Amino acid sequence: MASASVPISRRKALTALAGASAVVASAREERSAEPPPAPSWDVAVIGAGVFGAWTAWHLLRQRKRVLLLDAWGAANSRASSGGESRLTRTIYGADGIYTRMAAESLADWRWLSARAGLPVLHATGVLMFFPQHESFAEQSLAIHRELGLPLEVLARAELERRYPQMSWDGVEFGLYEADYSVLMARRAVQTLVAEFVDAGGEYRVGAVAGPGAPAAGPRAEVAGGEAAAAAGDVLASVRTSSGERITAQQLVFACGPWLPKLFPDLLATRIFPTRQEVFFFAPPTGDDRYGARHLPGWAEFTAGDMYYGMPDLENRGFKIANDTHGAAFDPDTGERRVSREGEADVRRYLARRFPALAQQPLVETRVCQYENSANGDFLIDRHPHFENVWFVGGGSGHGFKHGPAVGRYAAQLVTGQLAVAEPRFSLATKGTVQRREVH
Ligand SMILES: Cc1cc2nc3c(=O)[nH]c(=O)nc-3n(C[C@H](O)[C@H](O)[C@H](O)COP(=O)(O)OP(=O)(O)OC[C@H]3O[C@@H](n4cnc5c(N)ncnc54)[C@H](O)[C@@H]3O)c2cc1C
Repeated sequence: MASASVPISRRKALTALAGASAVVASAREERSAEPPPAPSWDVAVIGAGVFGAWTAWHLLRQRKRVLLLDAWGAANSRASSGGESRLTRTIYGADGIYTRMAAESLADWRWLSARAGLPVLHATGVLMFFPQHESFAEQSLAIHRELGLPLEVLARAELERRYPQMSWDGVEFGLYEADYSVLMARRAVQTLVAEFVDAGGEYRVGAVAGPGAPAAGPRAEVAGGEAAAAAGDVLASVRTSSGERITAQQLVFACGPWLPKLFPDLLATRIFPTRQEVFFFAPPTGDDRYGARHLPGWAEFTAGDMYYGMPDLENRGFKIANDTHGAAFDPDTGERRVSREGEADVRRYLARRFPALAQQPLVETRVCQYENSANGDFLIDRHPHFENVWFVGGGSGHGFKHGPAVGRYAAQLVTGQLAVAEPRFSLATKGTVQRREVH
């Protein structure tokens, strides 16, 4: 059943009004004015982060007419995909689904890297190391054996031999993947969008309001509740903040941390954007031991907590971050200056693991947000109310590397080609209490 304030009838096409806060009129007025125009696009993908861009790409490959829209442009500075670099790895403990997706994505990243003028993938290797025995490591090894994927175990002595610029106190062993490592995030997404346009896709800057945004249209409750009763409605079009009406047969909302704002009734309690701080330190003068020739992408895994970082790629500085979920964060208005406490925290870590960097100048910082689902599983599913509206999100701080596989999966879902949907990506399995399980 639709909300009492904006009633809609089953299978009735609706127009959502947009412009985040600007244009608001009742859906009832829209409906009575004129019948909706015929769809201009097979699919409109809203949000050109890594998930939206790869979804649009795979839909285009299926010969769909695709429009890709983004409020501030592809991989913009507020977006989760807008950072400098992202680790890619297949080490995922017992969560083999993500091992497979990361592995499946590698060929696409290599293809994109070859298309871009500069590297999208720096295959410097990636190392995850552990202070003690962890079931996460054992499970990773078991899954890699099962899938026939290489994963090297490095004993403490080997870690000391390979990476003498690090202090290995308290570390027992590491897991190393030679083929993986670092993706240049912004460059990757923007290169892909350029490829998409070259291949015949249309890309525009424009902001759209979701059908669940306050006062902008019908509301739906989660599957099993009101939504089940109203399932089957069709959203005929959305309007951008400039007033343009976008009509499409299918609408994919790949809006990352904005999804809870666009669909508050459904997602405000299911997607949790958190504040994450990232630091770049200058390597010591004339010292290239922290560059990509001598250091892989790395992460220290301690009972689910991680510090992680990248070598000094493209002379940007040595990157480090604490992966623990930060405070709740608003991607529009959140403060994007790092905190003194955050800097002190990573400097303490550097003193322990990269002692020569502990007092080095901080050369760049970023505050980004994770868009976490309750347990870290992605959300790739149909809206429970509108049969032609789809969610692609919930990257949860680990989504970037999986972009190609997520896009492929989403495209198959939207075009009805997927024989069996993955339950872990469904809205119905999304909890409302943040309890991280996927690392
Ligand atoms: C600090 C940090 C470190 C990370 N490290 C890693 C890592 O090492 N490895 C890894 O795999 N992953 C990592 N991640 C996670 C990964 O970056 C994200 O999961 C991924 O980028 C999410 O992509 P997305 O496309 O879902 O969202 P986004 O990139 O946020 O894209 C959503 C887009 O939607 C647009 N949008 C929003 N509202 C509207 C609207 N109304 N109309 C039109 N457009 C709209 C936005 O402008 C935005 O561009 C990290 C994330 C952060 C923040």
